[in-house]
Amino acid sequence: MSLTIISVRDAKKSGVRSMKGVRYSASNAAFYYQMMRALVEYMQEEFDRTVMHGMGKFRDESPNERYKAMLALFNKKLRAKYSAKVIEKLVRRALKRSSVYTQREFDRRLKSFGIDLSKSDVMKRYSSYMSTAVMENVMLVKNLRDEQSKRLQSIVLRGMREGIPSTRLRGDIQHALQIGKKRATTIARTETHKLTQQLADARAMDVGMKRGVWRAMMDNRTSEQHARFNGKPFNLEKGLWDPKTRSWNWPGRRPNCRCWTEYIIPGV
Ligand SMILES: [Zn+2]
Repeated sequence: MSLTIISVRDAKKSGVRSMKGVRYSASNAAFYYQMMRALVEYMQEEFDRTVMHGMGKFRDESPNERYKAMLALFNKKLRAKYSAKVIEKLVRRALKRSSVYTQREFDRRLKSFGIDLSKSDVMKRYSSYMSTAVMENVMLVKNLRDEQSKRLQSIVLRGMREGIPSTRLRGDIQHALQIGKKRATTIARTETHKLTQQLADARAMDVGMKRGVWRAMMDNRTSEQHARFNGKPFNLEKGLWDPKTRSWNWPGRRPNCRCWTEYIIPGV
C-alpha cells in the first residue's frame, strides 16, 4: 500500500501538509484507573479484615508469631485474588480500549484524505508495540500491588516494634491508601497517553509516513525541554535529537507528558 499515491493530490488540493495527531482518551485513562483503584481498595479492605481486625483480639506476651501468620495470610489472599494472570487479563482489557480507540481515530483522519485502512492487514509495528505495552504495564501494576502491600505491612511491623496500638495505626493506613491511589492515577494517565502516541506513530509508519512534528500543550505545565521541541520536525523511527541532553525523544513517552505527534504527509 502506498500512501503517497492516494493522498498527495487530495492533500495538495486542500493545501494540507500534515495530519492531526491522536490525543489520548480521558475515558480510557479513567477506565484503567478504576481497575487499579479496585486493586488498591481491595488490598485495604482485605488488610483490615485479615490483619488489623485480628490485632485487637489477643493480648499474648509474644504476639509476633500471630502477626506474622496474619501478614502471611494477607499475602496469600492478595496473590490469589490478584495473581499475575489476573493482572495481565485486566491490563489487556484496559489497553485494548486504547488500542481500538487509537486505530479508529487515526484511520478516521486518514479517511479524510481518501485513504481507507479498514480492510487492510494487521499492521506489523502496531501489534508489536501493543504486546510490549502489555508486558510493561503488567510489570507496573504488579509493582503497584507489591509496593502497596509492603507499605501496609511495614506500618504494622513498625507498630509491633514500637508497641503502637492498632487504633493509632489507622491514620497511617488511610494515608497509604491515598499514596496507592495517587500512584494509580499517574500510571493510568501516563500509560494511556503513551500507548496512544506509540500506536499512532506505529500506524503512521506502517502506512508509509516517515516524519512528524512535535506538538506540546504550551501551557505552564509544559516542561522547558518539550516547549523547546514544540513545532520541530522529526523522524518517526528515530525520534527527535536533543543536543542539550544528548538524547532521542518522542512525544508522550515521559511521565505526565501531554505532547503528541502531528504527521507530515509524504510527498507534499
Ligand atoms: Zn511533553
